[in-house]
Amino acid sequence: VTAEGAPEAGEAVQVLRRVFGYDAFRGDQQEIIEHVIGGGDAVVLMPTGGGKSLCYQIPSLVRPGVGVVISPLIALMQDQVDALRALGVRAGFLNSTQDFEERRLVEAEFLAGELDLLYLAPERLRVEQTVQLLDRGKISLFAIDEAHCVAQWGHDFRPDYLALSMLHDRWPDVPRIALTATATQATHTEITSRLRLDEARHFVASFDRPNIQYRIAAKSEPKRQLLDLLRGEHSGDAGIVYCLSRASVEKTAQFLVDNGIEAVPYHAGLDARVRAENQARFLREDGLVVVATIAFGMGIDKPDVRFVAHLDLPKSVEGYYQETGRAGRDGQPSTAWLAYGLQDVVQQRKMIEGSEGDDAHRRRLSAHLDAMLALCETVVCRRVRLLAYFGQESTPCGNCDTCLTPPETWDGTVPAQKLLSTVVRLKRERGQKFGAGQIIDILLGRKTAKVIQFDHDALSVFGIGEDLREAEWRGVVRQLLAQALLAVEGDYGTLVLTEKSGEVLRGQREVPMRREPEKPARAAKAKA
Ligand code: ADP
Ligand code: ZN
Repeated sequence: VTAEGAPEAGEAVQVLRRVFGYDAFRGDQQEIIEHVIGGGDAVVLMPTGGGKSLCYQIPSLVRPGVGVVISPLIALMQDQVDALRALGVRAGFLNSTQDFEERRLVEAEFLAGELDLLYLAPERLRVEQTVQLLDRGKISLFAIDEAHCVAQWGHDFRPDYLALSMLHDRWPDVPRIALTATATQATHTEITSRLRLDEARHFVASFDRPNIQYRIAAKSEPKRQLLDLLRGEHSGDAGIVYCLSRASVEKTAQFLVDNGIEAVPYHAGLDARVRAENQARFLREDGLVVVATIAFGMGIDKPDVRFVAHLDLPKSVEGYYQETGRAGRDGQPSTAWLAYGLQDVVQQRKMIEGSEGDDAHRRRLSAHLDAMLALCETVVCRRVRLLAYFGQESTPCGNCDTCLTPPETWDGTVPAQKLLSTVVRLKRERGQKFGAGQIIDILLGRKTAKVIQFDHDALSVFGIGEDLREAEWRGVVRQLLAQALLAVEGDYGTLVLTEKSGEVLRGQREVPMRREPEKPARAAKAKA
């Protein structure tokens, strides 16, 4: 490789056309590719579907030697390699799914200089043998895919990624390119420092997906709401419906089928053959709906997914962004719809409390959930909030539910005080723990069996909340949770005060709230 940029630039375009069959580069691709061909390090933040792969594949083809791609997505390696081989690219992979003989074959190809690209699982590099193997061949570059896995505060942390800092020490002259689709400022900084990419050039693409219309609705009858969405706006369209549990995946898929919609389930508990078949059908057919856990979608490249629906709250904004990002890769109008309710918050807090790992880990999960809740309860443009989360400024989009039907806000201070005082009263009852249901019954002055059993009808707060409906009280609880003025604890979703609750009780803090539209407006056609 020579120092003059021009001939190589020409070569990159030629490879793009000749090997991949595309006419022109997209976004920053050309600049990134030229930079890496020239031997520079790069950190690339680009949303899913943005075209990250070419950023290391083309330099691997242009530079002498083998491009080594480190990827945690072992299950996809075979497909990726097959796809490249179909284009005439000499690609291979090394991971734990291979037997000795298969591995030896790939190693021989690598050493003989018969590969353009070698995909490696990160744990391979912990094996000294692999490192020695790499030493004996010629490496053109290292691509570190899904680089956010190195971020300890991220949602996808993999310890094996930390060891990748050794690439710099061991092969200081080989250019490295780290790529990710998750890019908060914190992750970006961690990638740069942990992978020792101090000299790298940074390429940060816009994370906006203007053709996706973001909508977050209050959950009442989720399956029914989903059916309305599919029948009303997406009849005959391909789409993905995400559910948290395998059981709800099965039930929801069956519900859709019973209602005349072509749908199949997808989750890790299904037989591998069924799973593969359902995925293949989704890719092949025009209007199939896949109901899935988040196990589905990684690396799935279907351009015309018209909607992504979440029936349960995602655990983080990164997850939400990545999952919704599978809609509309072709640039055509698409919908990202999420139904969320109080039960989601209770359930997820419970899962966090019961999760393995230390306190720091739980705090991290909690912080991710809080950010997701804040997005759900925001009164400003969803897109502005979403992009702000990734450190990008923008103006109201005119194409999300809060832009199209601005939520009314109201002063929720007094209801918040009533609710928090009730929580305080119940806290004094030793040993007994109560969730949102009991508290709302008390506020509404309902003499349920459980209210009578605990003499809650004798409390001074009994019936002081009759001015609001039950659904409104649920909204109050949700929004207090989202604003961290209330917290959930324990297995039964017990409501407890937080550090900030006192400010509300003492009248030192106002609590603006979002009023749910009576009937969630069916948002107008998404603009392209
Ligand atoms: P990412 O890894 O960023 O999610 P991919 O590299 O898988 O994205 O690319 C997404 C899709 O866009 C792929 O089908 C890819 O072939 C296609 N693509 C990438 N770059 C171009 C380009 N310059 N012209 C046309 N299609 C492209
Ligand atoms: Zn908006």
